Amino acid sequence: MAVSQLRSIRNWERQSVSLNVSNRVILAVEARIGAFARLHAVSMTVSASSNPSFRRRIAVAGAGVIGLSCAFELARRGHAVTCFDGGDVRRTTSWAAAGMIAPAYEMYLHGGETGSALNELSFESARLWESFAPAVRQVSGMPVGYSNAPTLAVAQSSEQRAGLRALQAALREIGHTAYWIDRERAISRLGLSARVDAVLELTSDHQVDNRRLLTALRTGLRNLGGAVVSHHIGSLEDASRLGGSAPFDAIIWARGCHERGVTRHVKGQALALHPVEGMPAEVVRFGSGYIVPKPDRIIIGATSEATYSHPGVDAAAIEALFRSACNIVPGLRTARRLESWSGLRPGSVDAAPIIGQHSDREFVATAHYRNGILLAPATAQRIADMVEGKPSSPRAESFSPDRPAIATV
Ligand SMILES: Cc1cc2nc3c(=O)[nH]c(=O)nc-3n(C[C@H](O)[C@H](O)[C@H](O)COP(=O)(O)OP(=O)(O)OC[C@H]3O[C@@H](n4cnc5c(N)ncnc54)[C@H](O)[C@@H]3O)c2cc1C
Repeated sequence: MAVSQLRSIRNWERQSVSLNVSNRVILAVEARIGAFARLHAVSMTVSASSNPSFRRRIAVAGAGVIGLSCAFELARRGHAVTCFDGGDVRRTTSWAAAGMIAPAYEMYLHGGETGSALNELSFESARLWESFAPAVRQVSGMPVGYSNAPTLAVAQSSEQRAGLRALQAALREIGHTAYWIDRERAISRLGLSARVDAVLELTSDHQVDNRRLLTALRTGLRNLGGAVVSHHIGSLEDASRLGGSAPFDAIIWARGCHERGVTRHVKGQALALHPVEGMPAEVVRFGSGYIVPKPDRIIIGATSEATYSHPGVDAAAIEALFRSACNIVPGLRTARRLESWSGLRPGSVDAAPIIGQHSDREFVATAHYRNGILLAPATAQRIADMVEGKPSSPRAESFSPDRPAIATV
């Protein structure tokens, strides 16, 4: 019985990721799965304290990956959490993302510097994904498309090859591995172009299906007794007025681009293709471009535009992304196009996220810029620790809303 019901749930979920799906269908899927989990007492990993005085009523403003991950983590620890968001999930930056969990390649893009607070947070978060993804899956009863298969970093010139060699050395210094793949094998077995000069396999860089994740986090939160309210809020009082019986004890501000301290909205455009035979199963990175295979689509991205005349999609940019991906994986040329989209990455003045405390009742988690998916579990853990008054995490001051770079803006 359970197997056939689970199968029918998975079918529902497959429907929920179809491209023309409406918000109403997503909500119906969530409600049905939540009802199933309650009815059949799906086992949940709840690390809640049994002491009821420990249980706090928490409001979260924003149901992107950051707000929902914080809400999920707090609910998992036994708190009563309500997440507020009046927006359309398909307009969030989290929906626009490619789902890469890429601490090593991000380090490469930023000059290979090791030892920065952001670098350490990134590797810490990638490690947390290994338990966070199964927890979301278990509590929600929904797959999140997490894969710990390595990522392939491609060099197209001797200069890029030297850059990847430096990355490999830097990774070794901090205890991570990366291996060169035989070039002939990469061309014949992985479908890469003969233009490829060298391929480095990054064992620390993985992926998750960010769209499935958003749905699973909402469902998981509900299964843990939390709620998602379709309303924007601007204050703790708003939350208490809209959120039911008793006032909230604390609020987490996680409104992405709409949050205090976010000074840059960097536009990213991407497209998705229908899966085709013979494609690499791994994420492929080349310069600032990437190819991210999912079971139902192949994502190609992304632009990074600090200035732009409009926030939407522009056909020339999408065409350029498509052509550059085909130069690396020629088999993509025949793939049917599914969709293209754009999103705005929320950035702070120093490009590091803002994770901290305004007061003992107000917390903030925002400005995750290029890495909100990667950083979601570490952000959630740090915010939940702060709410519970635990000692501060390593290098917390580097992400504080009171750090000089942010406080003086
Ligand atoms: C093309 C592209 C590709 C990307 N790829 C990756 C990737 O592969 N890996 C990675 O780690 N990162 C990636 N990113 C970055 C990542 O998407 C972001 O860092 C992340 O989604 C930010 O999440 P968020 O929850 O802060 O913001 P959002 O997802 O934008 O969520 C903010 C939410 O706040 C809500 N809100 C606004 N105002 C209010 C209010 N007053 N009250 C309540 N709610 C409110 C909004 O409706 C929204 O739902 C990518 C970004 C882009 C654009």
